[in-house]
Amino acid sequence: MDKVPLVVGNWKMELSHKSAVEVFSAMKKMMTIKEYPVEIVVCPSYPSLAVIAAESKASGIAIGAQNIYHEERGAHTGKVSVVQIREFVTWCIIGHSEVRAAEGDSDLLITQKAKLLLQHGITPIVCIGESEADHAAGNTISIISLQIDVLLSSLDRVSLLKTPIAYEPLWAIGTGVLPDSNEVCEVVLLIRKKIAEKFDTELAERVRILYGGSVTAENVQQYISGPCADGVLVGGASVHPRDFLAIAEQVGHAYAR
Ligand code: PEP
Repeated sequence: MDKVPLVVGNWKMELSHKSAVEVFSAMKKMMTIKEYPVEIVVCPSYPSLAVIAAESKASGIAIGAQNIYHEERGAHTGKVSVVQIREFVTWCIIGHSEVRAAEGDSDLLITQKAKLLLQHGITPIVCIGESEADHAAGNTISIISLQIDVLLSSLDRVSLLKTPIAYEPLWAIGTGVLPDSNEVCEVVLLIRKKIAEKFDTELAERVRILYGGSVTAENVQQYISGPCADGVLVGGASVHPRDFLAIAEQVGHAYAR
């Protein structure tokens, strides 16, 4: 199967522009030492996109944004559109729970953003996940089903094939609390089942599904060994070049086995 695992670093608001450039440059240097059989994406903040995109040429690291606004242009103070980032990035995270919480993005709006990004040749990474309360109440499967159903109702086969989905339980993001790998596997299999029902099993297997939430080089193995996730979305650990690339290396090797 021609599926390459994917490791995405979400730098959030963690770095100043100067530090972001330094971190990227250190990562780029380390990339020349080893081979990473994996696709690697880092998502800096908007002010650093242009400089880091220029630095990223031939580095083996692709650049993504952390979000976009759902309109292409217009009077939207403080927002950033796909048209403004498209010369710098090839990827964009959407539906991150921190954005959903801060901006109230609905599943429908996130799907709209996914379509907009695809129209402009940018690959969306769609985040989904359940809250701590829903997890505790045993609602994980129903929440994920609702989120996936909205996505599947609006994306066609070709679009979906290009769109990685990141399962990120909200209670695992930035908390150090890790879900059981069987639980993650159950959600990944549910997403594949839903894709198979709407389209077919071939597409269900080919769409890349990631796990995200407190991933480190020390704990990543449990989520990538076995038939489940096709990679990881990493927040905190992704601003540390050695740790992030140690994660990427493990993901690549686990997948190659
Ligand atoms: C994230 O921001 O998507 C994330 C998974 O963060 P962390 O790895 O810090 O939990």
